[in-house]
Amino acid sequence: MSNQMEQLREQLDEVNLEILDLINRRAELVQEIGKVKSKQSMYKFDPVREREMLDNIKKHNTGPFEDATIDHIFKEIFKAGLELQKDDHQKALLVSRKKQPENTVIEINGTKIGNGSANYVFGPCAVESYEQVAQVAEAVKAKGLKLLRGGAFKPRTSPYDFQGLGVEGLQILKRVADEYDLAVISEIVNPAHIEEAVEYIDVIQIGARNMQNFELLKAAGEVDKPVLLKRGLSATIQEFINAAEYIISRGNANIILCERGIRTYETATRNTLDISAVPVLKKETHLPILVDVTHSTGRRDLLLPTAKAALAIGADGVMAEVHPDPAVALSDSAQQMDIPTFDKFFEEITDLENRLK
Ligand code: PEP
Ligand code: MN
Repeated sequence: MSNQMEQLREQLDEVNLEILDLINRRAELVQEIGKVKSKQSMYKFDPVREREMLDNIKKHNTGPFEDATIDHIFKEIFKAGLELQKDDHQKALLVSRKKQPENTVIEINGTKIGNGSANYVFGPCAVESYEQVAQVAEAVKAKGLKLLRGGAFKPRTSPYDFQGLGVEGLQILKRVADEYDLAVISEIVNPAHIEEAVEYIDVIQIGARNMQNFELLKAAGEVDKPVLLKRGLSATIQEFINAAEYIISRGNANIILCERGIRTYETATRNTLDISAVPVLKKETHLPILVDVTHSTGRRDLLLPTAKAALAIGADGVMAEVHPDPAVALSDSAQQMDIPTFDKFFEEITDLENRLK
């Protein structure tokens, strides 16, 4: 190597170290500014300030770099600075395993969800009458189970379909819960109903159609009741996780996720059960996850095989709909189990559960 080349390279090495020193000095200043902004609850990204800095830098640019190149380089430096300013919660979501490595375990009516044992949530699609719910409750209770589901506010595709009994439905659930010592899970669709609903129910369900109803998520995050959050019809796992983050960010960490199938081009089933979402969510979050085999398949003949798949893949439990007389059910008639089918289903799924132990 020529002497000149060696000298130039030496100078370059020196300049590199000077740049390194300068960008780290800049980073320290950026961190200090970040602390001030945090105290004042200011947004970290300030587009007006960035524009001013870029303009000022380019005003002094004498080349040989072109302005566009300078823009690009400094934008990268600004971006790295912004990353440094982010608070911890912006780096890792509260629902993430990064934030909390151990599983969240939720205790409802003496049963624990998320501690490795299988849980079951059975009950009718919709609350239709006291007798209808009580018949299912009796079958649930007979199996030693503790959780009962039933919709009082039904988010139906058509406005002309049965919309649920509303508060009267919640009152029926409460009466049945007290009589049979069960905890009840019911969907709430309106943030304004949450306060009243928690008087009657043990778990607030947020349905697939409301997974991104952010006001509802925030309202559910503000009460001291477990929330069962269903995955949206066309929601990605990331969107699902962020919906859960809305709830936890308001203070309520008792969240159960529920995979209930997603919209695809497949028509053989009502939705496509995204079974691999279970281990993905287990890996990404510390929250328990149930699989709703009823709404994902929409087919009675697929309830058992998909429930088996759910347990085998590591879900914390299964949800399925049971109705004393599905043929005349006011909603989801084609997919609810009658009581004898339910008995058989439970026998087989618990048999698999024991074999998996
Ligand atoms: C339900 O569980 O009653 C229900 C309506 O399910 P989804 O929100 O998953 O469609
Ligand atoms: Mn249903």
